Amino acid sequence: MLIYDLDIAALEKIFNEWNEPAYRAKQVWQGLYQHLYSSPDQFSNLPNSLRSRLAEEFTFAPFTVRTYLDSSDKSTRKTLFQLPDGNLVEAVLMRYGDPADYPSPPSPLPAAEGRRGEGKKRRTLCISTQAGCAMGCVFCATGQMGFKRNLSSGEIVAQAMYYAQMLKEQGETVTNIVFMGMGEPFHNYDNVMAAVDRLNNPDGFKFGARRLTISTVGLVPQIKRFADEGRQVNLAVSLHAADNDERLAIMPVNKKYNIDEVIEACKYYVERTRRRVTFEWALIDGVNDSPEIARQLASRLKGLLCHVNAIPLNPTQGYIGGATNRARAAAFKQALENAGIPCTIRMRRGIDINAGCGQLAAYTT
Ligand code: SAH
Ligand code: SF4
Repeated sequence: MLIYDLDIAALEKIFNEWNEPAYRAKQVWQGLYQHLYSSPDQFSNLPNSLRSRLAEEFTFAPFTVRTYLDSSDKSTRKTLFQLPDGNLVEAVLMRYGDPADYPSPPSPLPAAEGRRGEGKKRRTLCISTQAGCAMGCVFCATGQMGFKRNLSSGEIVAQAMYYAQMLKEQGETVTNIVFMGMGEPFHNYDNVMAAVDRLNNPDGFKFGARRLTISTVGLVPQIKRFADEGRQVNLAVSLHAADNDERLAIMPVNKKYNIDEVIEACKYYVERTRRRVTFEWALIDGVNDSPEIARQLASRLKGLLCHVNAIPLNPTQGYIGGATNRARAAAFKQALENAGIPCTIRMRRGIDINAGCGQLAAYTT
């Protein structure tokens, strides 16, 4: 059993069955999520017998590191993890706001992150929720590889712990976590929320909900459920088109939940939570990047507490579309803002190591 799959109550129950005092479970929990121990022998405050039992009954390493890659500017690291059943998933660390380390400063971040201390050092993790993805967005490498399986809550949490342990050795901490790696988080809803709650636990990792962002392809029932459950986690919705036929051509999910239904669900989310929703938009040259489309988008989003995060398309093997150039991206943003919709153009990151949005496909070469 993977130790990261347990919440504190489950751990306490097991310790109770082992006739261990309840405070032992808390010690283990704190060891895992506060001291960031990665193996039973690090728990020096536990008796030897208990440490051996932990080692026998639990797995502490849910995956092995197959390989990792650093971008040429060293700001981005992508790690390829191999799960025990052979499936591969990737997770990415992005370092922002270190002008001394990286002479050309990154462009503005998504506003959800930007609100917390613009210009400060940020260590953002992008983690995966599934091996592969069933949604089949044509421009996305994960979609192109198809669906393998859901990750358990512990397999999701463990990606964050892996990087948290690594950063700790460098005297640093994780500041933001985005569920924007491989997979569709709302297609694995329960495990993702269990992972969110585990990361958020005040006796453990204490990771503030407001520093977490979930990105969804637009699964309507789950957007509503998420709104009802009231977590303070940021929500991003991948839109990429303002017309239903155009969206359907690149995102098969639009057949099930079209733009009107997605935006309706987002309205519900904003009303319930009073939180702003982010719309994601991969700018594809000549496909969805004209000022006219920006105006069409703005009229759909009118009156909604929202923000558009546009990012020039990252290249993937299976899609021929190209990235919008700087000038066209600026014109798109201008057209949106003239119509009253705030927009950020995000800089592409980690492209040289295929670690950008939509590029995660667990290639081993
Ligand atoms: N499945 C979720 C989260 C993972 S994808 C979702 O689709 O929202 C994270 C973001 O990357 C999404 O906004 C997705 O649309 C975007 N994306 C996918 N492929 C991309 C590409 N080739 N270039 C830029 N962004 C891409
Ligand atoms: Fe899946 Fe998101 Fe990629 Fe679409 S963009 S295929 S939903 S990971």
